[in-house]
Amino acid sequence: HSSFVLTLFFSNILPNNDLGTLKIHYWHKQYPYCGGVFQSPIDLQTQLLKYDPTMAPIGVWNYNLSGQEQLTLGNNGHAVKLSLPARMYISGLPHRYSAAQLHFHWGSPTLAAGSEHTVNGKRFAAEMHIVHFNSDKYANISVAADKSDGLAVLAVLIEVRMSIRNSCPIIFWADQRVQIPAFNVRSLLPARLDEYYRYDGSLTTPPCYPSVLWTVFRKWKIASPSFISQVLLVIDHLCQY
Ligand SMILES: [Zn+2]
Repeated sequence: HSSFVLTLFFSNILPNNDLGTLKIHYWHKQYPYCGGVFQSPIDLQTQLLKYDPTMAPIGVWNYNLSGQEQLTLGNNGHAVKLSLPARMYISGLPHRYSAAQLHFHWGSPTLAAGSEHTVNGKRFAAEMHIVHFNSDKYANISVAADKSDGLAVLAVLIEVRMSIRNSCPIIFWADQRVQIPAFNVRSLLPARLDEYYRYDGSLTTPPCYPSVLWTVFRKWKIASPSFISQVLLVIDHLCQY
């Protein structure tokens, strides 16, 4: 297998889709960690990457959830967020990291490409983050969130041939919650889990704790019609309530 590790990086702070550059420059005044050397996201510059043959492929476990189960869909003010059961976990990292939630970042009317990470300066249509916490050491994601080995996020860069920019205003209402049937979360990941960029970074929004071990899959996902339907279904649930 082949895996890629990022050994050098710069703290490029990229404007988020719904949070402007101005706001990001402002964050560090209120949140001391924001804008630090571990600040994510970054531009993955492939000429700076170094292949590391010792890195293991990512293993995903119990990702095939049954439709009998209900998942809670809500939003955190920045993105649509789907809660995940902690029996889902990933292997191939120094600890076991159990799932907590997944969410998407996508474009807005003013910025069609909404990914957070970029590759050689290229921004993608959207980006999915599956957030996990170190369940070997911490009881839950709240306890783990500010610990240096607390979180591990799987990131998928998404290329689409149609716009998935969201026009539903209700998405910005805080604390909206609905239940949706569970599905196979593995289907949201690329086929190959052994080619990725790896670096130590942070939460991409305040309080920006430098607590995230990032795995950004190298083969970005070309969103299939079924993937788009799955995402739109999630959005529709929020729009209907
Ligand atoms: Zn995110």
